[in-house]
Amino acid sequence: MSEIALENLGKTFGDFTALADMNLTIANGEFMALLGPSGCGKSTTMNIIAGMLRPSHGAIRFNGQDVVDVPMAKRGVGFVFQNYAIFTHMSVRENLAYGLRAQGAPGAEITKRVKAFAELLQLETMLDRPAAGLSVNILQRLAIGRSAILKPAIFLLDEPLSNVDAAFRAVMRSELKSLQGQFGQTMVYVTHDQLEAMTMADRIAVMDHGKLLQVGTPLDIYNNPADTFVARFIGAPGMNILDGRLIQKDDAVSVEVPGIGSVDLPPALQFAARDLNGSDVQIGFRPEQVSATGSGLTMRVGLVERIGARTIVHLEHEGIAAKAVLPADVAPPVARKDWTFTVPEDGVRLFDPVTGQALKARAH
Ligand code: ATP
Repeated sequence: MSEIALENLGKTFGDFTALADMNLTIANGEFMALLGPSGCGKSTTMNIIAGMLRPSHGAIRFNGQDVVDVPMAKRGVGFVFQNYAIFTHMSVRENLAYGLRAQGAPGAEITKRVKAFAELLQLETMLDRPAAGLSVNILQRLAIGRSAILKPAIFLLDEPLSNVDAAFRAVMRSELKSLQGQFGQTMVYVTHDQLEAMTMADRIAVMDHGKLLQVGTPLDIYNNPADTFVARFIGAPGMNILDGRLIQKDDAVSVEVPGIGSVDLPPALQFAARDLNGSDVQIGFRPEQVSATGSGLTMRVGLVERIGARTIVHLEHEGIAAKAVLPADVAPPVARKDWTFTVPEDGVRLFDPVTGQALKARAH
């Protein structure tokens, strides 16, 4: 069991900064997802934790102890990559047993653990099959098993599900979560897929361009994104962000979105935005919070995507785009010109139009 602390951790390749002053503490037994688009520095961070890459500056500590000079083999980490590394000439059983054998575990212990992990990962019916003939899905499950069976204190997974098919990915999401729940390892999971991060992680670290933008529980990040990048990246579809202006009338503050309408702010945001009358601002709201009843905002309906119980409605006004996710029975028809909708006060978020940072709600 291990706590991982990254302190001012940075990595440069020549002039290029792949990772800039990362500060992050991953608690003992925590499932942390490193989430961000391709090239944001997730794998670099992971490779530094594993010991495959040396940081340019900063410290990395396991349980308080600096491990920068500790080689990978001595760090007590298990690592699973996007491309399964399986010995295809061996059977499933031999692959599972390989690491334990290399560690010199007694035969009876190896048999017991292979049986337990084969059951856990639903590989028990194929233990004696050669790995060579197995599907990509099963090979990746085996790769996870082969690493997990060693019960590493720290388990690192870098996009382990990106090559498997969608249905299997959904199964593996819950299996990985329960695997980690049973063994209580500290798990670091790299992904560019916000759904994977949202469904599995205790906390998510969102990264972009080598920087850590926000760390929080999935719901924290969904509800209170630190900036417009996180707001758009989390959620499917992501948060709508529209340009507007703060308007103060008497004691009430609202946001006017030119040509589209206006939205009242909840008291805590009104308080934060007080004295900013006339300032430009960006207003954010989740597509799921759009309500087809009431008024306030009006846009034209473009594409309407029916995906069963829910419908994704694409909205447009003079080049400004937004989306609404609505129950199928209340969705407007395609090409409806003036469709009016509301955003509940508590669903409204405000962002600085220059920095993209969220304007924090404040109590009186
Ligand atoms: P992906 O999911 O595409 O792997 P990532 O978020 O994991 O993305 P990294 O692999 O950490 O990103 O790479 C971060 C940046 O550092 C990228 O722009 C990448 O091109 C660059 N980079 C990584 N390794 C090297 C290297 N050895 N030399 C030069 N640049 C590198």
